[in-house]
Amino acid sequence: MIHSRRSLTAIRRERRRKRRLRRRLFTFLTLIIIMSTFMFIKCSPNYIFTICIDPGHGGYDPGTANESYEVNEKDLVLDISLKLGKILEEQDVKVVYTREKDKIPWSTQIESLMGRSEISNDANADLFLSIHANDFTESSDVKGTEVWCRFENTEDEALAKEINYRLSNIGYTKNRGLRYEKDGELYVLKNTNATSVLVELGYLSNNNDLEFLSSEEGKEQCAQALAEGIMNYYHSKQEEQMDA
Ligand SMILES: [Zn+2]
Repeated sequence: MIHSRRSLTAIRRERRRKRRLRRRLFTFLTLIIIMSTFMFIKCSPNYIFTICIDPGHGGYDPGTANESYEVNEKDLVLDISLKLGKILEEQDVKVVYTREKDKIPWSTQIESLMGRSEISNDANADLFLSIHANDFTESSDVKGTEVWCRFENTEDEALAKEINYRLSNIGYTKNRGLRYEKDGELYVLKNTNATSVLVELGYLSNNNDLEFLSSEEGKEQCAQALAEGIMNYYHSKQEEQMDA
């Protein structure tokens, strides 16, 4: 087949156009791949573990309250929980909350407790930390922290000890030590699959505890201490596994 001079030029032009098109398509696809890889890396960090943080009470249930200071347990523990979550997230921990606002979807105590355990279990959390503050109406002198777990010589207890140690290091109140199921049964600890601890940060009925816990500085220090306890527990477990 003989092409005329004009049709040959047209064919060459066409080929050049296609080559240009292919090159552009190639560049475009490469860019897409680079961008999506970058986005994937950004969106899915390698979490070191998952923790479920449970700010006690919420919604209709204020928890313990000190009316003279207008402080509710539910607000105070939420603030500290969110600060704690932020610190842990910065260390590549996946954080799941049972509530991030005042609002809760439960309308009774038992629904609320079941719901909290369920959130932790559904998230397959490795650790569960429920955060509370105490109250003792008979005497305003009673103060201090308590860290609850179920039994001695368990992972729960190891985590409780780390948290207790860091909290008492702040030195804002008395260290009332660890408490176990024999001292009182706690639904959330019993029904949560993760290594579980409940912390009572102090007594809102005591002015010393109340002042510290409701101050911005106090909240920051508590969140920091809880985070250090948790991370220390994690690192000592890592070391144990490496030695084994
Ligand atoms: Zn409480």
